[in-house]
Amino acid sequence: MTLFAKIINREIPAQIVFEDEHVLGFKDINPQAPVHVLFVPKLAVANTDALGDDQAELVGRVVLAARAYARQVGIAESGYRMVMNTNGDGGQTVFHLHLHLLGGRPMHWRPG
Ligand code: 5GP
Repeated sequence: MTLFAKIINREIPAQIVFEDEHVLGFKDINPQAPVHVLFVPKLAVANTDALGDDQAELVGRVVLAARAYARQVGIAESGYRMVMNTNGDGGQTVFHLHLHLLGGRPMHWRPG
């Protein structure tokens, strides 16, 4: 079981800020911006590469959950970044699909 499955199951604590039937959102333990929240589907999928062709809705729900939270905390107009890391070169460290919502400061693009 992954770390995020344990957070979903309330086996380890997290600062949960969003929950609905399908998605959980909780603050990243090592925030890279004033707002840094991870949105995960309750259904375990390792990453975008493992996603089934019939699981488009799962990703859509995660994106819409993050959008709702961004509006709620007032960063929708100033802007934000959504990131999903996949496998080694993508920088993925936890193999339960997750979307990083980053905001509250200007984002820059530094490939590499
Ligand atoms: P990845 O690198 O897989 O895209 O993102 C994993 C994220 O999970 C990292 O940003 C990391 O800081 C976060 N993280 C790792 N362990 C924990 C934890 O125990 N609790 C929370 N809330 N976040 C964690």
